[in-house]
Amino acid sequence: MMYKDTPVILTQTGEVTGQRMIPQAELEHVDAKSYYGKAFRAEKLPLPNLSEIGVIRHYTNLSLKNYGVENGTYPLGSCTMKYNPKINEDSAGLPGFANSHPLQPDSTIQGNLELLWDLEKKLSFICGMDRFSFQPAAGAHGELLGLLLIKAYHEKRGDTKRNVMIIPDSAHGTNPASAMMVGYDVREVKSNEKGMVDIGALKKAIGDGEEIAGLMLTNPSTLGIFDESILEITKLIHDAGGLNYYDGANLNAITMRVRPGDMGFDVVHLNVHKSFSTPHGGGGPGAGPVGLKKILEPYMPVPFVQPDGDKFKLVHESEDSIGKIRGFIGSHGIFVRTYAYILANGRQGLREVSEGAVANSRYIYERVKDYYRVGTTSKTMHEFVISADNLKSKYGVTAMDVAKRLIDYGFHPPTVYFPLIVPEALMVEPTETETKRDLDGLADALIQIAKEAETDPDVIKAAPHNTPIARPNETQAARNPILKV
Ligand SMILES: *Cc1c(COP(=O)(O)O)cnc(C)c1O
Repeated sequence: MMYKDTPVILTQTGEVTGQRMIPQAELEHVDAKSYYGKAFRAEKLPLPNLSEIGVIRHYTNLSLKNYGVENGTYPLGSCTMKYNPKINEDSAGLPGFANSHPLQPDSTIQGNLELLWDLEKKLSFICGMDRFSFQPAAGAHGELLGLLLIKAYHEKRGDTKRNVMIIPDSAHGTNPASAMMVGYDVREVKSNEKGMVDIGALKKAIGDGEEIAGLMLTNPSTLGIFDESILEITKLIHDAGGLNYYDGANLNAITMRVRPGDMGFDVVHLNVHKSFSTPHGGGGPGAGPVGLKKILEPYMPVPFVQPDGDKFKLVHESEDSIGKIRGFIGSHGIFVRTYAYILANGRQGLREVSEGAVANSRYIYERVKDYYRVGTTSKTMHEFVISADNLKSKYGVTAMDVAKRLIDYGFHPPTVYFPLIVPEALMVEPTETETKRDLDGLADALIQIAKEAETDPDVIKAAPHNTPIARPNETQAARNPILKV
């Protein structure tokens, strides 16, 4: 309807001033109510009276209080907080991957299965293994699977006396925890002054070998040191009848250079959120795929992918399988990201990843080593450990104080007080994705803080100065988080 030359002014009550009246029915036409009629609630929901933009601002500002690798350098040793390229997300979001359901028949998910099979071959090549299981949800879960495979191997042979797992003192805490969960006794082996496994101590721990189920080793170790006796270590365990487990969390240091399988290891877990740029945690699904040698293949958990003519199928039953340790095949979307990362880098790119990871770590180490105490003389790889105990004894400044002060300089703190064998430890792992400018920024900040310890230790001890909270109780903050004021 047109109201030519007749200006109309609507009032709040719907009355009209001017020369023409608009019929009430037409006015109501503007309200959603006129479309849905009775579908509307009779009473209002008891929602807080907030504006949409107010809510958006609240959550956006909350998210900015967090710190991630997309905010800045995140040198959390042992965790490999590298940048997660967006092509990973784009690939995982492709409808064919994102919309598939784990209960679909194999014939309708051939693309997914082919990807997993090809990824299995690629990871096996990278690690020198024969097969990979995609089931575990994280590295620690992979440890559990790897040890269950070792246990199944011994039990199948009737070799049931083997109940000792040898673990060096530099190991990640999850190693002894996983061994205990599987029912093994943990026998610790001391590191020597080079930060490597002490061969004499290892021989002593092996004894006559009859009790030895195997060894769990992280190489390079959590000190960032590649063990120069690695072949001798794995041979000693094999000669005693045990199997070798490789904690592959530090694969970033060695990708496409050396392979756990060639070093004498029978089983390895990977942390794809560390080495292959999938997201860390965040409450979402993760993955800790486990590579294994042929001797362990009969015990692989089900389901696994198997070629079937020119197609692929999921195998759900296998006579000696340890069974399932998780639902379905595993975190499929995470493996699409892993696959995208490997293809985007290629053979040469992955070699450059490990080269960059080591070069970046060495660079910071060389810049800061005169300001902190350094433990061993061994060359470190993708991460290094320095100690603040020189600052503590002279100025009362601890590793925790240094870490907190780094926040004021705009950096995420490194890992502190780990590994346990280094007092006042600061464990730095920059990863290959940082630029020289980022590395210099972090090195400058570490040097500046060491100098401040001398001139103004109190400013370090009270740090951080610009965060909503400064020093929560570390344990309580994780166990009993209070997320609102
Ligand atoms: C991170 C890490 C683990 C545990 O892996 P998650 O994926 O966190 O469960 C085990 N060992 C080492 C050496 C690690 O750095």
